[in-house]
Amino acid sequence: MKAEIIAVGTELLLGQIVNTNAQFLSRELAGMGIDVYYQTVVGDNLSRLKEALQLSSARADIVILSGGLGPTQDDLTKEAVAEYLGTKLHYDRLALDKLERFFQDRSKPMTENNKRQALAIDGGTPLDNETGLAVGNAVSKDGRHYIMLPGPPKELIPMFQQEVKPWLLQHVLTDELPIYSKMLKFAGIGESALDDRLTDLITGQSDPTIALYAKDGEVTVRISTKADSELKAMEKLDQLQAEIEAIVPDHMYASQDVPIEQVIVDLMADQGLTLSAAESCTGGLVMETLTSIPGSATMLRGGVVCYTNEMKHKLVNVPLHLLEGENAAGAVSAETAEVLCEQIRMITDSDFGLSITGVAGPGYAERKPIGLVYIGIAERGKKTEVHELHIKGNRETIRVRATKALLYRLWR
Ligand code: ATP
Ligand code: MG
Repeated sequence: MKAEIIAVGTELLLGQIVNTNAQFLSRELAGMGIDVYYQTVVGDNLSRLKEALQLSSARADIVILSGGLGPTQDDLTKEAVAEYLGTKLHYDRLALDKLERFFQDRSKPMTENNKRQALAIDGGTPLDNETGLAVGNAVSKDGRHYIMLPGPPKELIPMFQQEVKPWLLQHVLTDELPIYSKMLKFAGIGESALDDRLTDLITGQSDPTIALYAKDGEVTVRISTKADSELKAMEKLDQLQAEIEAIVPDHMYASQDVPIEQVIVDLMADQGLTLSAAESCTGGLVMETLTSIPGSATMLRGGVVCYTNEMKHKLVNVPLHLLEGENAAGAVSAETAEVLCEQIRMITDSDFGLSITGVAGPGYAERKPIGLVYIGIAERGKKTEVHELHIKGNRETIRVRATKALLYRLWR
């Protein structure tokens, strides 16, 4: 089964927005075992859109279009598909009701062009748009399937999950075996480093498939296989997981799609443990990451952002001789990381104290290289652990990866 993506929008061609919809759709389709050989970007232009449809129809079984379902005159996607297929458009009753209610609730008159968002292709299936007003469409003709989705990712993503996937499974992928996947989550290691270590396995492997992607400082390895039963699929997936773990024995913290902070919060809350952090280069990101998880209130006591040497000394009792002077270890050092985590643990009377100090760039600090980061973990009654990290990337990458690396070490 082959699919193509047509992203519609002059903004995309002008470089004003990034085509994240194509990335999302490609990844999802790959996960469903559907091959994507081409992605197209075309402006808001009826004849060029029809040309793009013609090309894609000649090559693929499924064509997914993103964008151009809105109320304005340059939103032409449904018209283009209807004209290309030689069918007509009508107003979908439910979508129209929803629009009318929307304008009534706001005591605004609904203009004629707004009704365009309720257009549906004759003979097709309307796809409900939970977070927006433009209804999506799925329509099949001559063994080809066309799916029209709105441009805003906050509408397109939930629609794909809730409407498109089930529609494809029911109408298009009926003869195919179902796909089973497992998500292996890694932290404290970069995507390319992990890819390097798994490269032989990935190239020598076609079933299950292995796909890597990085997001928010973590790497997800998705392994997928088709099988007629879950049991058979899981046998294959478990075996591959064991092979992956043999090659990369560290850094994997879960075999389902959860962020490391979730694992930490659940674990510590369960055991009644408490945590605090003293942060320099991450400026509170460790705290922000943990507090974003519901339930962190029971395990998180507090934290300090001590950016300058003065604040490291005043707020977290780092001795000045460590920080300043000719032969001082400096703020970015194992020694400072150690004092920071031990002190914050004692000051807050927590079970664990964490610390991060490093050079996030773009400038150098203390003539130390960008990406040099020390992380510390102090645990009540145990010896303090300090790790030296060398993270490649820009300021944001360094800060996020350092945070995740620290949480990963804590988990271990
Ligand atoms: P609207 O009702 O907002 O007009 P629409 O379905 O007509 O939605 P477009 O007008 O093409 O879609 O795009 C609306 C917005 O959606 C864009 O300004 C952009 O922010 C986002 N968007 C559109 N296409 C993409 C894309 N391929 N990737 C990421 N974002 C996109
Ligand atoms: Mg629009």
